[in-house]
Amino acid sequence: MENSRPAWRRPAGNPANAGKCVLIVEDAPLNMRMFSAMVAAQGHRVLQATDGSRGLDLAHQEHPDLIIMDVQLPGLSGLEVTHLLKGDDDTRDIPIIVTSGYLIDEEELRASGCDAYLAKPITVSEFVDVIESFLIRSARASSAAP
Ligand code: MN
Repeated sequence: MENSRPAWRRPAGNPANAGKCVLIVEDAPLNMRMFSAMVAAQGHRVLQATDGSRGLDLAHQEHPDLIIMDVQLPGLSGLEVTHLLKGDDDTRDIPIIVTSGYLIDEEELRASGCDAYLAKPITVSEFVDVIESFLIRSARASSAAP
């Protein structure tokens, strides 16, 4: 089909960002499918975790370039996982974008150490802009490393 490509899919606009690895920690199947599709459409590899402890394990094993973290998860909450990852030398440099459909206490958000917060529902353009801007930052940071 000619027009089967989703309207939100952008042609590779940021070649420096191609082929990054993004971990999505999300327990709602619809959100997981949507986020994964958007990340894959940008040319990145997607890792999925549907609970906090699996997210924690994957972050350590795979060291993704970015994490999209839901707050309300079975077991460990997304803010707890974020706090653990930001308190660990091995994972503290991974940018974490926290997402929630509920209002989150600002103090709690800051205390978690997350790098950004997106309130659900998240628009496609907002989502894509935020993930690409963090991936550009991480690309610059790694190319600036000695
Ligand atoms: Mn959830």
